[in-house]
Amino acid sequence: MRTCLACDTPIYGRVDKKYCDHNCRNAFHNERNRSNRKYVQSVNRNLAKNHRILEELIENEVVEVKVQLIKAMGFKPQFITSCEIDEKEGPLFFIYDYCYQQINEQIVIKIRELETYRNSA
Ligand SMILES: [Zn+2]
Repeated sequence: MRTCLACDTPIYGRVDKKYCDHNCRNAFHNERNRSNRKYVQSVNRNLAKNHRILEELIENEVVEVKVQLIKAMGFKPQFITSCEIDEKEGPLFFIYDYCYQQINEQIVIKIRELETYRNSA
């Protein structure tokens, strides 16, 4: 038995019918759009926070910090804007205009020249 994707009511009729009616179809799409938006917003918030944390450290002239410590500050390493593999240095993780490397248990922060960054973006 096929059921409506929005309200789970059994549906009859055309084989490709997925909803009872327009209302259920709209409700389903609105809900999906809302949760997609929420997800994008949460990724953006996490990226902004990571950026703020790096900025704060740089402003305080801290460019090397223990992974454990930066995580305790709220930094989430899984949120990056891009990654490049440097042949000599290994992976460089970018958060907008900042980037960092992880060397053992240490995070080393680098500021990328904005011009270079814009040219490659
Ligand atoms: Zn329905």
